[in-house]
Amino acid sequence: MSHRPTVTSFAFDYLIVGAGFAGSVLAERLARGSNKRVLVVDRRNHVGGNAYDHHDAAGVLVHRYGPHIFHTNSAEVFDYLGRFTEWREYEHRVLASVDGQLLPVPINLDTINRFYGLNLGSREAEKFLATLAEPREHIRTSEDVVISKVGSELYKKFFRGYTRKQWGMDPSELDAQVTARIPVRFNRDDRYFTDSFQSMPRHGYTRMFENMLDHPNISVLLQTDYRDVAGVIPFKEMIYTGPVDEFFDCRFGKLPYRSLEFKHETLEQEQFQPVGVVNYPNSHAFTRVTEFKHLTGQRHPKTSVVYEFPRSEGDPYYPVPKPENAALYQQYHALAEATAGVHFVGRLATYRYYNMDQVVAQALTTYKKITGHRNGNADTPRIIPAGVAAAA
Ligand code: FAD
Ligand code: UDP
Repeated sequence: MSHRPTVTSFAFDYLIVGAGFAGSVLAERLARGSNKRVLVVDRRNHVGGNAYDHHDAAGVLVHRYGPHIFHTNSAEVFDYLGRFTEWREYEHRVLASVDGQLLPVPINLDTINRFYGLNLGSREAEKFLATLAEPREHIRTSEDVVISKVGSELYKKFFRGYTRKQWGMDPSELDAQVTARIPVRFNRDDRYFTDSFQSMPRHGYTRMFENMLDHPNISVLLQTDYRDVAGVIPFKEMIYTGPVDEFFDCRFGKLPYRSLEFKHETLEQEQFQPVGVVNYPNSHAFTRVTEFKHLTGQRHPKTSVVYEFPRSEGDPYYPVPKPENAALYQQYHALAEATAGVHFVGRLATYRYYNMDQVVAQALTTYKKITGHRNGNADTPRIIPAGVAAAA
């Protein structure tokens, strides 16, 4: 009772389930762009969804649910989020621990040369990999994607073990889109992403979310499952960003989501590893180790890291892209489409392996669809959050 908002004769235009990117973007747009009254509920005790960050006991800014690196090719998404945060440029780099060496991932010219003990130029490396590649007529699985580009040896050393650990199944069982996220390069570019915009929110994701949700038309209720309020607080329509199967009581069966267990640690040293993330494809039970200070640029005499241990049970973090799951999702999707007054948005609700920027784009598109706006941004002036204005 105590943390419920006062229920007036008519309360909210929208009940938004989930305060992650999908829910927060829609809350912000509906409130600020269309003057709607919205109630955002989240069963966690914080906003931001899986992008939530906070200062740990030592004062180091960490991401509770694993490393979140913002990158996009969409100027619209970047500008939109830029209303709520300043940016700090950050280009992410990843090394993989393979046969006692730390080698760049994605595989690039240096990876090839160091792995095979060669000294090839770009052209020669391309020809060399062509001799190792095992072309496949149809690229359907995550095994096909890699083997057809780099052959079996690099596949086994860099992809097979990591993927088996991360997903609990062989790459040959997973859709191509999973390992296709990681390109192969014949130059020395060792950035993980090549998007036009690569930046982190200067004061963290949570501050950005707080700025988005800071509006008189938005109420936020944490530690609350929407089912506890849906029958109590009146609203006109719902935006749902949780797992789609759960919304329908798993009536067609449970949709598989892959989970992770995070082991956070603070170390009495200034730096732990040379880059933000080190992957462990073939050794250890964890897949990767992230050292947050590389991502955030924070200076601190101590450092904090997180280890990721893949799990089949636990909070749903990843949809699992494979044909039978897509077929099961289609059944839920059809039901979702037929459910009047509820909009399904985000990574869990649309069962898509989406990055943050894709979820923001999806939410902005949904806003335009709901409100009939041609351009959801055109109606509002640029908003400079108080903290940013003061710092400027
Ligand atoms: P979520 O962030 O999952 O938000 C959904 C919210 O709904 C949750 O807070 C949940 O508590 C709430 N909820 C669910 N059910 C209910 C209910 N019944 N009642 C009340 N509340 C409910 N993307 C990138 O772009 N770059 C990265 O580097 C990156 N790294 C990632 C690393 C990991 C380990 C993971 C798991 C994801 C990563 N992502 C990354 C993806 C990114 O986290 C997602 O794209 C994004 O957070 C999805 O936002 P969302 O709003 O759809 O879902
Ligand atoms: N992958 C791999 N080895 C690596 C990096 C990635 O096998 O060194 C595969 C693995 O299947 C992983 C997928 O590529 O799940 C996508 O990697 P990404 O880093 O994009 O995963 P995310 O950050 O979404 O967990």
